Amino acid sequence: MRVTARGHPPAAGNLLTLAPRPPSMSDDCIFCSIVDGDIPARVVYEDADTIAFLDANPLARGHTLVIPKEHYEDFEAMPPEPGEMVMAALHYLTPKVEDAVDAEATTVAFNNGEAAGQEVPHVHGHIVPRFEGDGGRPMHALFDSRPDVSDDELDDIAERIGADA
Ligand code: 5GP
Ligand code: ZN
Repeated sequence: MRVTARGHPPAAGNLLTLAPRPPSMSDDCIFCSIVDGDIPARVVYEDADTIAFLDANPLARGHTLVIPKEHYEDFEAMPPEPGEMVMAALHYLTPKVEDAVDAEATTVAFNNGEAAGQEVPHVHGHIVPRFEGDGGRPMHALFDSRPDVSDDELDDIAERIGADA
């Protein structure tokens, strides 16, 4: 089922177009097939760069996925501009998702790379509605334990991350 886009994020007010098939689309990617209209999806939002649709196997009512229309496997492969448009769409849609299902909060997250649990190798942000007592956990519950990191190691890591930034 395709549903007409309901609006535009403030930063992309005039971007709703019928975009041509971007050259980077992958033929064997489920999410590229949704962008192409070859696989049906409950599309809730679309602009020139992004599309959002309900997750087919939701963690909660209203669980929505936001993707760049072009195929990028992960953040490392994605240039800044589509990343910014995905963020704008997430920012725009999150309150609308919450309103639609009367949620009290949302977990907004990316599984970025296979080792982090990403199953569909096309960048996608999850908007998962949250309710008091829903049994879901915070991101920090992803890990049972935490590494014992020395101050020196923290300094070294911070320096490496900050290098050339
Ligand atoms: P990941 O684990 O890669 O972060 O999340 C992939 C998400 O895509 C899962 O939540 C899964 O339910 C959803 N998904 C997988 N295949 C399809 C599909 O064909 N249609 C839709 N709408 N969602 C899908
Ligand atoms: Zn793809």
